Amino acid sequence: MKKSRLPLIIGAVISVALIVSIFVVVNYKNSQVNVASDEEQPAAQKGKEDEPTKEQPKTPDKTSEPQEQPDENGYYPNQTIPTEPTYIDGVLLANKRYPLPSTFAPGESPEARQALNTMIAEAKQQGFNLVAFSGYRSYEYQTTLYNNYVKRDGQAAADRYSARPGFSEHQTGLAFDIGEVGKDDLWLTEEFGETPAGQWLFDNAAQFGFILRFPQNKEEITGYMYESWHYRYVGVEIAKKIKEQNLTLEEYLGVK
Ligand SMILES: [Zn+2]
Repeated sequence: MKKSRLPLIIGAVISVALIVSIFVVVNYKNSQVNVASDEEQPAAQKGKEDEPTKEQPKTPDKTSEPQEQPDENGYYPNQTIPTEPTYIDGVLLANKRYPLPSTFAPGESPEARQALNTMIAEAKQQGFNLVAFSGYRSYEYQTTLYNNYVKRDGQAAADRYSARPGFSEHQTGLAFDIGEVGKDDLWLTEEFGETPAGQWLFDNAAQFGFILRFPQNKEEITGYMYESWHYRYVGVEIAKKIKEQNLTLEEYLGVK
């Protein structure tokens, strides 16, 4: 009996000793971690997010995560204006996800203006008297414009029809609002897109390097409602690809 019980007893003693030592080590480690995180909280939060601590495991991750969901007007909460404009494959991108710096003031693009003039001349040949009634807008001008709308209608309403400063594609110098001469009542309306002139523009703009920037049923991607009048110069090659494949600029560039 004695012989057969001895290994059991030894085993039990070793087990107890192991459990006690694990308990001691774990407690010691916890106390070390607590001391460290109490004393160096700023450092621990800033640079040591991956270190497992019992007191604050997820808080640093959550606060540093970018807010991905846009609000009802397509703006991203806590969005910061960058110091440089965004170019993707050489194409300047300005939308609610990629705003422009306040210092970005290129003026109207001469290349875009020349293409616009050629397009307007060609439209005239076809019997359509088009005009660009709005083009380049500086950051300062957009600020004045937006603030006046906010004063008049409140921010929520203003956000529905006016871009905040830094978020307007007109600041690129590559965008134009186009309508028909003498038909001002249809400027900035969806109906313009249904007129023969608006239809001609939609069908032919790509040949001159322009795209309808905010097409129907693409609000989720562009962040803007359908704007039958707003055209953006991207060059003939890209404009034709975008038109042929029925894409938005965001889809073509592979961003949202
Ligand atoms: Zn516009």
